[in-house]
This record gives sequence, C-alpha cells and structure tokens, in this order.
Amino acid sequence: MSDTSLRLVWVYPDLLSTYGDQGNALVVERRARQRGLDVQRLDVRSDQPIPTSGDIYLIGGGEDRPQRLAAERLLRDGGLNRAVDNGAIVFAVCAGYQIMGHEFVNDLGERSAGLGLLDVTSSRGEAARCVGDVLGDSDEYLGLPQLTGFENHQGVTHLGPGVRPLARVRLGNGNGTGDGTEGAWRDTVFGTYLHGPVLARNPLIADMLIKLSLDVNALTPVDDTWYDALRQERIAAATQPA
Ligand code: GLN
Repeated sequence: MSDTSLRLVWVYPDLLSTYGDQGNALVVERRARQRGLDVQRLDVRSDQPIPTSGDIYLIGGGEDRPQRLAAERLLRDGGLNRAVDNGAIVFAVCAGYQIMGHEFVNDLGERSAGLGLLDVTSSRGEAARCVGDVLGDSDEYLGLPQLTGFENHQGVTHLGPGVRPLARVRLGNGNGTGDGTEGAWRDTVFGTYLHGPVLARNPLIADMLIKLSLDVNALTPVDDTWYDALRQERIAAATQPA
C-alpha cells in the first residue's frame, strides 16, 4: 500500500454478512480514517472478481448453504489466494474462518474444499450448536487485551501445526474441539468464531490489522470511550451468573 491509503475489501456481502459482521469493515474503515489514511473500501459481491490489490480483506459469517457457495466461488476466482501470496491481510469470521481452512462440512454432511490459507479443518460438531458469549485470552504473540465476542456455529475447527490459536477461551467454546482454543492465525491471515461485531468489541484487533498493513509498530491513539463502554458491558453480561 502507499503511505496514506488503505484498500479495504469486504468480501461477498451477499453471501457472508448474516451476523452483522459488516460492522468489522466499518470499524477498520473508521479507525484507519482517524489515523489520516485515505481508505478505499470495496464491497465485492460473489458474482464479481476478487481484486488482488487489496491491503486488508474482511470476510464474515453465514449459513451453511451460502457458505458452500462462497467457498466454491472464492476457489474458482483464486483472487484471494493470490492477494495473500502478495502479502495481503485477511480477517475472517465464522463461516469465513472455516472457508480459510482446508475443508469444512455442512448440515447435509457434504464436504467442501476451503482455500487452504489457514492450516485448519472444520467438521460438524456432535454436541449442541455453540451459541453464546465468549471471553478469551489472546495469543501472547499478538499482545491483545481480553477478547470478547459472540459465537453461533455448529462446525468445530481443528488446528494443524501451521497455525497458532488466536486465543484461549475462558468462557464459551471457540473452536469447539474441547482443547480451549479459539480461532487461528499465521502471518497475515486470521480466523475467528467471534461475532459482535468482533472488531467493535475488540478495536485493538482492527488496529493490529492496520498496523500490519502499514508495517508500523504503533498508531496514534484515538478516543476509545465508546468501545470501552461496549467491552465492559459485554464482559459484565458474559460473566454475570444466569
Ligand atoms: N455455517 C457455519 C456453522 O454453523 C458457520 C456459521 C456462522 O458463520 N455463524 O458452523
């Protein structure tokens, strides 16, 4: 990217935008603008080619059928994989996260190939659907504060040796395999089960993505009052006895 502009790509809003994850694009866009960056946001529908020149790609969650269609189209298109080969950053949520892996399975037991951008494989969870608030301690390498989000998924995700978990859950299921992990990441590709939207609840993840794209270690501080209030409210709600 140039020093002052950031190309933000919101991938397949027509298929993968069911859970309010578009808020992630709004948060990255706003926080980048607050740092004086000229943000070009491109919303790419599933009948359009994925541009390979983006800096940050955001992908949301979705139901099983749109998820399968999205994976087929992304694979056929190939643009997202080429963008990552060129160093682009990807932040994918839930269905989007599963699509970043090697394979996932839908409600009919049909297997779909993922993009292989994360060394993870998703299967159908045998237990009840994972629904509810999640709190997690972020991977020490990422240095993020406690993560808060909301999960709603049937799939469970197994991590291979090529990724690190994004967090360890204190509350909730995360990847749902019982190993206490939530999400996965390697290099510039991140996946999580957290909605919320997760970047509204955890704005420092948005800043992390912006820093990665600018290749800087720090950003000028912005007013986080609103975000802090949301975080406190959700963390309190999650930890209150039912
Ligand atoms: N369809 C996937 C599942 O149920 C992902 C759901 C989601 O994106 N919330 O596991």
